[in-house]
Amino acid sequence: MHPGNPMKKKAETKGKKSLTVLKPENTLRFNCNQNLGCYTRCCRDITIFLTPYDVLRMKHALKISSGDFLAAHTATVIGDTGLPVVLLKMQDDDRKSCPFVTNSGCTIYADRPWACRIYPLQPESTQLTEKAGKTYYSVMNIPFCLGLKADRTLTLAEYIQAQGISVYLEMETHFKSISTHERLLKEKIANTQIQDMYYMACYDLDRFRRFVFESTFLDRFEIQPQTIEDIKADDVALYRFAMQWLEYGLLAQHVMKVKPDVVALKKQELGIE
Ligand code: SF4
Ligand code: SF4
Repeated sequence: MHPGNPMKKKAETKGKKSLTVLKPENTLRFNCNQNLGCYTRCCRDITIFLTPYDVLRMKHALKISSGDFLAAHTATVIGDTGLPVVLLKMQDDDRKSCPFVTNSGCTIYADRPWACRIYPLQPESTQLTEKAGKTYYSVMNIPFCLGLKADRTLTLAEYIQAQGISVYLEMETHFKSISTHERLLKEKIANTQIQDMYYMACYDLDRFRRFVFESTFLDRFEIQPQTIEDIKADDVALYRFAMQWLEYGLLAQHVMKVKPDVVALKKQELGIE
């Protein structure tokens, strides 16, 4: 097991000039284990961006609400689109340790974030690969990581499977298409209400559920009864629904339908036939 994966290793990653991109059948040399002198070093002094699915899994692992998780363990910054981006907050100790690392490893290993799974790989994408819907990976150059000097080799495909990355990639696809949409990049959202709605739908799912069930939401939109049942208790279903709502609200895509009586009333208010 490896206890951590930095999304960003300060000034230690390989420069673009020496970049080698791996195909699924290509091999990498890597073996992390508790006997190595570097064990858990990669879980300190790092920057980890959390995806919405990371937050979902981590709050489940800790058995706390999304609101409590976000308040206790994250910091938020505004990204290129003007929308919030969530980071895992490191501890205030002399090594800036991850709050979940102990000497014997990661306490939330089964639900560790995507960034911790993908290590020692990092995604390399260009506009062309993005358009083709493909992701390529390179191996990071982390001098202190002894796992990179191990005898064991395995293919990229084997590594991705062993780390349980597929479900993260699947969950990420929808979110990524919204959060990196060129329309948002151009507009750069500055409206704090929109920023908060986005934050709630992406990261604070328990609040989003209250918003759906305790506001006029269900009176306004046509939602299948089965979907309503699913999102009551299933966070993954709720997350998918939240992404759909963002596509509708942020990107004006026709993925949700307003109830006819609500449309008629609105037209009446606006004096439209
Ligand atoms: S979440 Fe776990 S694996 Fe990731 S940095 Fe923290 S302790 Fe390490
Ligand atoms: S081998 Fe690398 S991934 Fe494993 S503990 Fe050491 S630094 Fe971390």
